[in-house]
Amino acid sequence: MYIVMVSAECAPIAKAGGLGDFVHGLSRELSIRGNEVEVFLPKYDVLRYDRIAGMTKYHRDLWVPYYDQWIHCDVEYGEVDGLKCCFIEEHAPEAFFRRGKIYGESDDADRFAFFSRAVLECLLKSGKRPDIIHCNDWQTGLVPVLLYEIYQNLGLTNTRVCYTLHNMGHQGIVGEYILRQVGLKPDRLMVMERMLDPHNHRAVNLMKGGIVFSNFVTTVSPRYAWEIQHTDQGMGMQGVLQYHDRKFGGVLNGIDYCVWNPELDTHIPQTFGPDSLPNKAVNKRALRERLGLQEAFKPIVSVVSRLDHQKGVHLIRHGIYYALKNDCQFVLLGSAPDPRVNADFWRIKHEMEGSSDCRLELTYDEELSHLIYAGADMILIPSVYEPCGLTQMIAMKYGAVPIVRRVGGLADTVFDANYSNKAFEERNGYLFDDLTEAGLESALGRAIGLWFSFPDYFRQLRVNGMRADNSWNHPGQQYLDIYNHMRA
Ligand code: ADP
Repeated sequence: MYIVMVSAECAPIAKAGGLGDFVHGLSRELSIRGNEVEVFLPKYDVLRYDRIAGMTKYHRDLWVPYYDQWIHCDVEYGEVDGLKCCFIEEHAPEAFFRRGKIYGESDDADRFAFFSRAVLECLLKSGKRPDIIHCNDWQTGLVPVLLYEIYQNLGLTNTRVCYTLHNMGHQGIVGEYILRQVGLKPDRLMVMERMLDPHNHRAVNLMKGGIVFSNFVTTVSPRYAWEIQHTDQGMGMQGVLQYHDRKFGGVLNGIDYCVWNPELDTHIPQTFGPDSLPNKAVNKRALRERLGLQEAFKPIVSVVSRLDHQKGVHLIRHGIYYALKNDCQFVLLGSAPDPRVNADFWRIKHEMEGSSDCRLELTYDEELSHLIYAGADMILIPSVYEPCGLTQMIAMKYGAVPIVRRVGGLADTVFDANYSNKAFEERNGYLFDDLTEAGLESALGRAIGLWFSFPDYFRQLRVNGMRADNSWNHPGQQYLDIYNHMRA
């Protein structure tokens, strides 16, 4: 099959979170299985160019319609870990992709609407006729709309679209001007069955367009699929998803074991696996050394996260004090887009300056994240909601025991050491329900207690997590089944 993946992110060259890992991991899995896969991305100025091999001009002078003008673009081609990538380079006066960042601009909707149109224009003009276009999140929600409203009639006749929802918290709700901008007709689309936002009747909802116009819609875990259809986690889209139930399902994400594998990882000082678990101690020592923590008979509790409301920042904050009070060390790697959250964590960082047991690194650092997973004993993920969550799966692979709230993909991948209907070999962490400090303590307290009092049992939990198969193998097959189903 010929599959085109369209996304705002792809790890490691343009990654803000799990979406980047998803695109990289699934695309590689699909190509390993013999499919022709190409990833389309904006050519951001902040791409990690050092990780792209053989960058060449692939298509010169692609002219993309935009309002009543044409914008001059080039398309470049390069490979990332063997994955074929096409980069849309625009020469617009607005410099859409030359902003020093991936997201967070006031005209993000315009930037990604333009990108969506440019991808289809590129496919059309270069004679590419994919069997499947796989789009992701609100940024590419216009792709299926443009395909069915414009490009199907121009020659992209047999292409089918799969659309994956990674986070209902960001839907791309914007004025109807966005439709005119890319050549669509607002009077056709600003109706409830199509793109009108369910709550704001003057706005268009780009994610809703993606859902309505795609041939199949997925989200990143079965539990989140249920939550967004039946609870307020759907953030207003419950009715739309229920209406389109026949073409909707949850597929649990995998993680790429070529990137996240303690037996092969080149970012950590000592590789290890379930059969050489004592070697993990070398990484724990290295982590302490790197961050200036003391050597002591204490577990390291960690957090690797965007510091966003979604991630339960108030409980992360409480977890720091609770862990320190209970004789643990605490390591946090996170970046906060919200200035108030950022200021709050900087305050805690300053407060901990003299501590030999606590370190907060308020930045984005891919390499350090590997060392934290490899050196930590536990990882704390007290999310308000979590579509899938990769950090619990990565941490488990590195023998760090997850302590998580029972939501979304966390509930699909973490099975409680004490309270689970799973066999003992499948229990791998701790869960709590209440989004309160008491809730968090009920799980973190049990994990810390086990580390100090029953080390053999704690070791067994680590091994259970390391042996769990969270690779892309199963989800890769599930996506191929979905693609085949759409083509039939
Ligand atoms: P989300 O997509 O909501 O941010 P996920 O758990 O799905 O959360 O994915 C997070 C990914 O981003 C993981 O690969 C994690 O290691 C990485 N990550 C998050 N914060 C940081 C950070 N500050 N530095 C390095 N990597 C980070």
